[in-house]
Amino acid sequence: MKTKQEYIDSLKELDPEIYFMGERINDVVNNAHFKPHINSAAETYKVAFNPETKELGTAISHLTGKRINRFTHIHQSNDDLIKKVKLLRYLGQKTGTCFQRCVGFDALNAVNSVTYEMDEKLGTNYFERFTNYLKYVQENDLMVGGAMTDAKGDRSKRPSEQNNPDAFVRIVDENKDGIIVRGAKAHHTGLVNSHEMLIMPTVNMKEADKDYSVSFAIPVDTDGVKHIFGRQTNDMRRKEDGDMDTGNAKYGIVGGEALTIFDDVFVPWERVFMCREYEFSGMLVYRFATYHRQNYGACKTGVSDVIIGASASAAEYNGVEKASHIQDKLAEMLHLTETLYTGSIACSAEGIELPSGQYFADPLMANVVKHNITRFIYEIYRISHDIAGGYIATIPSEKDFKHKEIGKYLEKYMQGISEVPAEDRMRIGRLIENMTGGTAQVEAMHGAGSPMAQRITYLRSGNLEFKKELARKLAGIKNNEKD
Ligand code: SF4
Ligand code: FE
Repeated sequence: MKTKQEYIDSLKELDPEIYFMGERINDVVNNAHFKPHINSAAETYKVAFNPETKELGTAISHLTGKRINRFTHIHQSNDDLIKKVKLLRYLGQKTGTCFQRCVGFDALNAVNSVTYEMDEKLGTNYFERFTNYLKYVQENDLMVGGAMTDAKGDRSKRPSEQNNPDAFVRIVDENKDGIIVRGAKAHHTGLVNSHEMLIMPTVNMKEADKDYSVSFAIPVDTDGVKHIFGRQTNDMRRKEDGDMDTGNAKYGIVGGEALTIFDDVFVPWERVFMCREYEFSGMLVYRFATYHRQNYGACKTGVSDVIIGASASAAEYNGVEKASHIQDKLAEMLHLTETLYTGSIACSAEGIELPSGQYFADPLMANVVKHNITRFIYEIYRISHDIAGGYIATIPSEKDFKHKEIGKYLEKYMQGISEVPAEDRMRIGRLIENMTGGTAQVEAMHGAGSPMAQRITYLRSGNLEFKKELARKLAGIKNNEKD
């Protein structure tokens, strides 16, 4: 297993083609915009060595029998699924943000399960290929960026109907050595600080879309791959001196996403895990989405724990912590947070064994978890703004606070209760401002799939026929009784 420092050092050996703000970024590790994301992802390596978290942060490989970092593990039991949830909550508490490595973790689990079932039905040998890749990932303790969402073009059209034929990643050619792919993957979390990327289709495909039914893994610095890093709220504050104005200077506010372009990229056959088997694309999307939706009541509850702590601190610094309406609001935040966590634990405890022998979270419950996040996180953020007060939106800069002439006024007028210095009150306000604004909120809504995707799953997996039967039987409607 890699230590935190070995992970950071290993990134220096890669040479991905990354662009940000019109510039090619060569030194990823020392870039002010990427550093917080690297620090956050590095915590996923640290947990494997910390005696307190080792049990959660590691697992025994079912392939080699060796101890591995849990982020490269294939879940072998419901207990593994539950440990994942506990680990993610811990890391959310520690970083206050996204630590990115779960996308690849979920992609590994999804592709493992689907390649097994494809081989069973079609007689292909994808599972063996994938097993070799998984061993390589486990033995080198790699961070794998998972990518599903395509550029998508006209959302009303299928991949093969698009005016832009590259709106979804597709196979444009193949030869005896491998395939050539073209297209782009959007919102690629943690990519700039990953070693590898595992690509999956984004929708259920039909026969006409078979060239779009493709899954493969390549290093992030493969020829022809370009990553364009996205902006985030307040990102330029990272370039300033000092650490107050960014809020969470060490770990950042959200994962760090890129648009990854595949400009006719060669993928060798041993790294291809689906090649035109369109009838399995929907299964892969569903498996990945379920594994990732399982997480949201875990990482986001860890982050919510920090927001609750920040809100309670702001109330304390403002001198109103004991007010009954503040206590009520804190209780509400705690209730929402634990409700979310309950969902993640429940879908893990109710996990089922798949044909590959690995475990899979209950899909209906996992979708409920993610769907609740799209509502409750906004509510948790709203309450934090209510408790902290309007000052979080108007805090003067660190430069003014440290200014030799006007700084003293901020010391005097930004203070709440006299026991707490103005700087602490400003820091807590900044933390809330940055954790609950802009990019972080949108990620909670659309990360792991937009709310409509969860509603579709409810209707598909909610077994309405069974529920109709229950009701009709009790209502004494004999013709409709099936038993
Ligand atoms: Fe992991 Fe949560 Fe970030 Fe997804 S949003 S990668 S589950 S920390
Ligand atoms: Fe996410």
